[in-house]
Amino acid sequence: MERLYLPAILSGMAITMSHFFKKQATISYPEMKRPFAPVYRGQHVLKRDENGAERCTACGLCAVSCPAEAITMVAAERKPGEEKLYREEKYASSYEINMLRCIFCGMCEEACPKEAIFLTDRMVPTDLKRSEFIYGKDKLVEKADQRIDISKRQTKEVIAFKQNKNLQHNILK
Ligand code: SF4
Ligand code: SF4
Repeated sequence: MERLYLPAILSGMAITMSHFFKKQATISYPEMKRPFAPVYRGQHVLKRDENGAERCTACGLCAVSCPAEAITMVAAERKPGEEKLYREEKYASSYEINMLRCIFCGMCEEACPKEAIFLTDRMVPTDLKRSEFIYGKDKLVEKADQRIDISKRQTKEVIAFKQNKNLQHNILK
């Protein structure tokens, strides 16, 4: 019987057939997409405040806390008349994240005292050039008329922590 290979072929076909009735382990990406975990950490956003001014004050805490040394920035002083553009007296005239270095740990978000940088549920798109992965303010700062929803991956505990008025970094000036 073994030399006929029939039992082996039949048992192999039985295993194959049994998979027809099981839930598929794969999906047809990119037509189909799996839902992300609520705490998924994707592309960063530099937020604006309720009046549309950039929240980042170029304090550098995100860069210092970044284990991948992916963040660089240049600070500048706000000039009279620029109050609507920048929330604080100091702002980042240049702010860059090297997405090839970033490990999406979220430390920059945790370190920021101004609620300026957040990781979102958006994926960083692929590209063929390394230079395209240096994200500057043009890609990071949200558009005044197209705000990025960051609430999707803010757990109840995180929101409670950030709203705790006893914590210095939550006191709005
Ligand atoms: S997510 Fe982590 S690795 Fe990426 S820029 Fe922020 S601190 Fe650096
Ligand atoms: S994003 Fe936050 S931590 Fe980083 S420089 Fe701006 S204000 Fe400071």
